[in-house]
Amino acid sequence: MAEPPTPRSGADRDVLEIACQEFVELVTDHLEGTLPEEVERAIAAHLELCEPCQIYLEQIRRTTKALRALSGPTLPQPARDRLLHVFTTLHGDARGDSP
Ligand SMILES: [Zn+2]
Repeated sequence: MAEPPTPRSGADRDVLEIACQEFVELVTDHLEGTLPEEVERAIAAHLELCEPCQIYLEQIRRTTKALRALSGPTLPQPARDRLLHVFTTLHGDARGDSP
């Protein structure tokens, strides 16, 4: 892949890099604010470069908010699956389970 344009200062060259897949797995923790600062920075950096993930984050944010208003604190599996589907649709191509 081509090198993405580096936003901001060049000081964060050693910042943890995350992929879309990892972002999906981390997004709920991100919303709960339970992630280490370096991971939060990686997420912020990823979001700057990845619009589908921005949209995904917004969807999750709205869904978790709605679900919290309705019932418990955890995201039920069906909602999770649905959001994952939205995510892969936005990215245009599901990565499947190929290595
Ligand atoms: Zn992404």
